[in-house]
Amino acid sequence: MPEVVIIGGGLSGLVAAITARQAGLSCVVIEKGRSLGGDGNYVEGVMGVDSRLQQQAGITIDRTRLLQDELNYSHYEASAPHLKQLIDHSGETIDWLADQGVKFASVGPQGKSWPTIHAFAGGGHAAVATLVAKARQLGVEFCMSTSTQKLLQTAGHLSGVEVMNEVTGQTTKIATDNVILATGGYVDNPELVKKQTPLSDRLMSVSDGKSTGDGMQLAWAAGAMHDSMGALQFGGGAIFDPMLPPFMHMTSEIGVAATQEAILWVNQVGDRFVNEDVNDNMCHAGNALLGQARTFAIFDAEAVKHLSTVGLYKAVGNSPFSPDTLSKLPDELASDLAAHRKYLAKADSLETWQNSYIYRIWLIPLPIIISKSRPALMLILVKLRPISRRLRMAHFMR
Ligand SMILES: Cc1cc2nc3c(=O)[nH]c(=O)nc-3n(C[C@H](O)[C@H](O)[C@H](O)COP(=O)(O)OP(=O)(O)OC[C@H]3O[C@@H](n4cnc5c(N)ncnc54)[C@H](O)[C@@H]3O)c2cc1C
Repeated sequence: MPEVVIIGGGLSGLVAAITARQAGLSCVVIEKGRSLGGDGNYVEGVMGVDSRLQQQAGITIDRTRLLQDELNYSHYEASAPHLKQLIDHSGETIDWLADQGVKFASVGPQGKSWPTIHAFAGGGHAAVATLVAKARQLGVEFCMSTSTQKLLQTAGHLSGVEVMNEVTGQTTKIATDNVILATGGYVDNPELVKKQTPLSDRLMSVSDGKSTGDGMQLAWAAGAMHDSMGALQFGGGAIFDPMLPPFMHMTSEIGVAATQEAILWVNQVGDRFVNEDVNDNMCHAGNALLGQARTFAIFDAEAVKHLSTVGLYKAVGNSPFSPDTLSKLPDELASDLAAHRKYLAKADSLETWQNSYIYRIWLIPLPIIISKSRPALMLILVKLRPISRRLRMAHFMR
């Protein structure tokens, strides 16, 4: 019987598993997907205060002001004690990650943020690979393609979990005294998102599709109190493509040109509705997009040429990994326009475009490329509070 069962093999689950093994506990990670790392594979940088890297770079941060800024930023929807704990332990967490072999490329501000962002060398995917290797080396057992269905209790005490093999549908019970729920958020669960905002239909979840709020629901079913659904944060835009999920466009250069470089944004009636520099803060940009019924990013052939040869007009505000030039943009556009040929239209038949995310109007002599975008729902800070003291919860807070 494993001493600890960790549900979810994202960054949180991996960190919990390594910590459990380093504390000498036997441990199993249950992961419903076929791969590990969850949304951590997309992470660019991690917030940290007073890490060794910051000390070496001479960066000092006033924690009280940072906490205040973060609370203001969330309009006090975020939980102050959780944020304080996060900030207070963030430096040692970064140092711990470095000690496990995770490499950082830089530390500094993201857009106009505080200089807290520790960018992973090779992105989140590289950090995930390092942590998975470390966990395996320490003897962590992984059950892949296995979803947790239920927390089991005996006489009011947690006694195990019921899991299901996603391929065969077979269910099994695993006895344990300690379970860590590390199942991520709920942006991929439309019903839960709808409870939080009446605008849910207009939001696009930018996630790998597995953030369905399972942990919350398992905990609620086991008697945890519904404390708060957390503060929603909208991101500065994602391509709205009826044919493909948003994360498929996340790494494309069309995505950068349309949603981050933001040369010209217009709304459903063709009005420019905001200074595109709003993108220096991705959440402000998300709110600006959310205020419009429909939004479009426009770039002409001159812009495409400039982006692909000279470089970005200004540094992309919300990413420490902004590329110098979008050299692949012309090829990506050519192939996407070819793929959507049946929707391409002259300016007088706009209706035919509605099933395509990208289209082209010929205004002699240059074509104008238009891409639909929508606010992206990326982050929700969730809080849970166990009401039954008999429901034992293990804490491996990092
Ligand atoms: C595009 C994008 C960019 C981001 N960039 C940053 C950034 O730069 N910096 C930053 O700090 N944060 C960033 N984030 C947020 C960050 O990725 C997440 O906060 C973090 O990865 C969450 O980790 P997690 O392990 O808690 O959850 P997840 O990564 O969601 O992992 C949860 C895992 O649990 C599994 N699971 C779920 N339910 C079950 C179940 N019932 N049974 C078994 N397994 C289950 C899932 O399959 C998944 O693998 C970004 C997010 C996105 C989407």
